[in-house]
Amino acid sequence: MARTSDRYPGVEWIGDTGAFITIDENRCTGCGNCIKVCLGRCFEMEKKLARIKSLAECMECASCWYVCGEEAISFRWPPGGTGYRSDWG
Ligand code: SF4
Ligand code: SF4
Repeated sequence: MARTSDRYPGVEWIGDTGAFITIDENRCTGCGNCIKVCLGRCFEMEKKLARIKSLAECMECASCWYVCGEEAISFRWPPGGTGYRSDWG
């Protein structure tokens, strides 16, 4: 059964893909870039460091990985993807 979100009409996710994004807290400087770019609101700040709140609405865009200048974020597409699908592609 696909999951949907009222915040994103036309988007659905299938499956539970686990921790396919991780943050190395020893590298994170708390710059907040990942939080600013994430459409899925997957991150939050805790004790001045980014942490993953939930990947349930991750859209597999890899923007968090791209904007992290400290290389603190590890990103890999889970096998088969998260099942993220949208009405527009
Ligand atoms: S972009 Fe990288 S360094 Fe900046 S808060 Fe996020 S994980 Fe930390
Ligand atoms: S891949 Fe995109 S949607 Fe997923 S956590 Fe990173 S910035 Fe957010």
